[in-house]
Amino acid sequence: MEHKKVRVRFAPSPTGGLHLGGVRTVLFNYLFARQHKGDFVLRIEDTDQTRYVAGAEEYIIECLRWCGLEADEGPHKGGPYAPYRQSERKEMYRQYAEQLVKNGYAYYAFDTPEELEEMRSRLKTEEHPSPQYNHIVRQQMRNSLSLPAEETEKLLAAGTPHVIRIKMPASEEVSFTDMIRGEVQFNTGTVDDKVLLKADGMPTYHLAVVVDDYLMKITHAFRGEEWLPSAPVHILLWRYLGWEADMPQWAHLPLILRPDGNGKLSKRDGDRLGFPVYAMNWLDPRSNEFTRGFREMGYLPEAFVNMLAMLGWNDGTEQELFTLDELVEKFSMERVHHAGAKFNIEKANWFNHQYILKADNQRLAALFMPVLKEKGVQASEEYVATIAGLVKERCNLVNEIWDHGFFFFRQPETYDTAAVKPKWSEVKRQFFLDWASVLETLSDFSLSAVEESFKQLATSMNIKVGELQLPFRIMLCGGKFGPPVFNIAETLGKHETIARIMKALPAFDA
Ligand code: GLU
Repeated sequence: MEHKKVRVRFAPSPTGGLHLGGVRTVLFNYLFARQHKGDFVLRIEDTDQTRYVAGAEEYIIECLRWCGLEADEGPHKGGPYAPYRQSERKEMYRQYAEQLVKNGYAYYAFDTPEELEEMRSRLKTEEHPSPQYNHIVRQQMRNSLSLPAEETEKLLAAGTPHVIRIKMPASEEVSFTDMIRGEVQFNTGTVDDKVLLKADGMPTYHLAVVVDDYLMKITHAFRGEEWLPSAPVHILLWRYLGWEADMPQWAHLPLILRPDGNGKLSKRDGDRLGFPVYAMNWLDPRSNEFTRGFREMGYLPEAFVNMLAMLGWNDGTEQELFTLDELVEKFSMERVHHAGAKFNIEKANWFNHQYILKADNQRLAALFMPVLKEKGVQASEEYVATIAGLVKERCNLVNEIWDHGFFFFRQPETYDTAAVKPKWSEVKRQFFLDWASVLETLSDFSLSAVEESFKQLATSMNIKVGELQLPFRIMLCGGKFGPPVFNIAETLGKHETIARIMKALPAFDA
């Protein structure tokens, strides 16, 4: 057999923000392409103009860029099979729909929206609440199978609006081998006569996906499990168009389930349970609804990607942390589970924490700067990097640098004096006054110099160092929290440290 170059595609419809399940589909495509030295194509499936949302395509491209999973070909960079936007390929599809009609695999249907509505309300029963246009119903409708040939000719010649529908066999077994699920079988009797070409000449998803996968020489098609019911239509189209030998290998990826229950994880679940579901912030231009994304909530892309890889896949060992290169090397579609994978935000946070620990402090600072700006705080990136280094051990999210380090950016307004009062004394007060004068004279304000002078003075005044550290911490931070206190002092610097001591003393005395 001829060895074909691996070509995979991610084929989103630009209808809104990108769900983390979508990013996982991107990831598995990307890993497979890299592993096989193949091509990864981004194709925008925008044939349903009623669902088209402005900005969604740019958003998707930006998501791939953020995750480091960029496509080799796509609408943003072109490629040998351009255009990569289906709306721009509109003219290519009709000939294939006509070919199907000519060969008896599809037919013209002239039914008006009113006639379709009439059929639905007439056939509706409690058992079948939404009757379909199928191999039985089509006999009673107005199409080139039910009408005399001359009538069809006349309608076509008169330019009567019509669609082209696939003629699904009444009862035929269609099967294919899914890379994850193995042998999958369907009976065509349960599938309706899907529209392939709409009245305006635009193909539907079903026709466009098959034609484009063929024309773009796609060898493997990976997509969410929700597309499994469409598979028999696609398989038959490959066969009816005479392309079966070139049909890609399919893999339908398991759903990502909500943490509480078995349903598919939706954006609403995220809103309800307080975690992101979209990769990045998304502002829906139709409803103005704003949705927070993983990126802006302080997740690192490599953590996000690693977490997604483990939603439904593992390498057979206990290993959970993988670099992208390791994933490329170890990933295999056959090891993806059939069953849905429950999303777990605690686990996502754990992954992020691991990558924050490894991350360069300068990088964390750069990522944190927009958060500071939002809060109206000014600080140099260098200063923020030092703080990131001091607090990252406690952070699951980049944005939590604020929660664990806010006092680096502003003096305390209130003090946890209850923690100090019981052991506060005139001697201790004198210690801090004297020490402030000593600090003034220090030319080196390094951690060790500060700590050394603190200990020296405490010893000379006969006070236990341990009893002075807590008040000092509360002077600097306002409460019993934060990294080691001399690190805080060193970071704040001489001027600010002294200022905070002097500001706190009256509150401690009161
Ligand atoms: N356009 C489909 C979607 O939005 C693609 C499904 C497929 O990959 O075949 O998910």
